Amino acid sequence: MRVGLGKDIHILKKGYDLILGGTKIPFKKGLVSYSDGDCLIHSIIDAILGALSLGDIGQKFPDNDPKYKGISSLTLLKEAKKFIDESNYKISNIDCFISCEKPKLKDYINEMKINISDILDINLDQISIKAGTNEKMGYIGRSKAIECESIVLLEDK
Ligand code: ZN
Repeated sequence: MRVGLGKDIHILKKGYDLILGGTKIPFKKGLVSYSDGDCLIHSIIDAILGALSLGDIGQKFPDNDPKYKGISSLTLLKEAKKFIDESNYKISNIDCFISCEKPKLKDYINEMKINISDILDINLDQISIKAGTNEKMGYIGRSKAIECESIVLLEDK
């Protein structure tokens, strides 16, 4: 087995869409990024790359490459899935945590899980997504940013 850890943070600002786990969430602010700012997907990609010892998302999908400008992070996840397919491993399970003060995410978690399981070709019970606030503390607590952490476990095919 191999395990990988991923973490990502993006700034919340007016004038941007809020997309998490491939789901667009109605909110007055969104995540600033070269791509669509989906820090949940970015953290999962980083965890996959970590588990395979393939570096990080910035190396594989550089943010100065015009082909990644405004790209859906689900497309990047599809690319990351290819690295698993080329390896001797398959996904055992994924566990994620979203640190987000506002908006409340619970109504969107299931759709995020469906988006991710579709692309990674895994069952819904192989992916867990949790969300919590930062008790109004710090930049996350003041809704200045959203941070995501993910762990991916790979096992032999
Ligand atoms: Zn990111």
